[in-house]
Amino acid sequence: MARYTDSQCRLCRREGQKLFLKGDRCYSDKCSFSKRPTPPGQHGSAGKPRNQKNYGIQLREKQKMRRIYGVLEGQFRKYFSMAEKMPGIVGENFLSILERRFDNVVFRMGLASSRSQARQLVNHGHFTINGNKVDIPSYLVSVGDVIAVRERSTNSPLFKAVKEGAKKTTPAWVTVDLDKLEGTVVTMPRREDIDFDIQENLIVEWYSK
Ligand code: SF4
Repeated sequence: MARYTDSQCRLCRREGQKLFLKGDRCYSDKCSFSKRPTPPGQHGSAGKPRNQKNYGIQLREKQKMRRIYGVLEGQFRKYFSMAEKMPGIVGENFLSILERRFDNVVFRMGLASSRSQARQLVNHGHFTINGNKVDIPSYLVSVGDVIAVRERSTNSPLFKAVKEGAKKTTPAWVTVDLDKLEGTVVTMPRREDIDFDIQENLIVEWYSK
């Protein structure tokens, strides 16, 4: 599957804000955006704010959300079509679908330090859902699903570090037992569970043209 392989920090500089794509590094003084918060490229350091029109603002918001979740355009649009067909508010449905991605859930449960690390761990078959190995990062979880680290992976240094690491706050729609390295989806993610600044209405406007 195609994926973005260029510098993730470049994406933060492009969007003009920290997107927290690299786990612990994002919270340290090694964060590239903290050191150089200018757009990437030859003229980035000129630092002139762009006078964006409506479509430019909508596009940036869409790109920002796509980059936070690490989803390519085709799949992102597919999620939007799904959201349109669901009852309720399209923008909130869209966010809920993105939150239900397996890689995001692993990250949200604190079993990985970033979504990109979660995606890699899922790809490498370190997790089960309801006892069955699932290695598809885009798999959408449902209420009642139990996500766990596979038994043979629990002794890996990586998951030992997860156990020993500071407990992270988890969203209300999941419960987690880090000692057992497992968690459960208790409700569907709701708008108020999204903890970053996003204006999904701009993305709805972008796709509704
Ligand atoms: Fe963005 Fe994290 Fe890189 Fe900082 S360290 S620029 S927040 S990806």
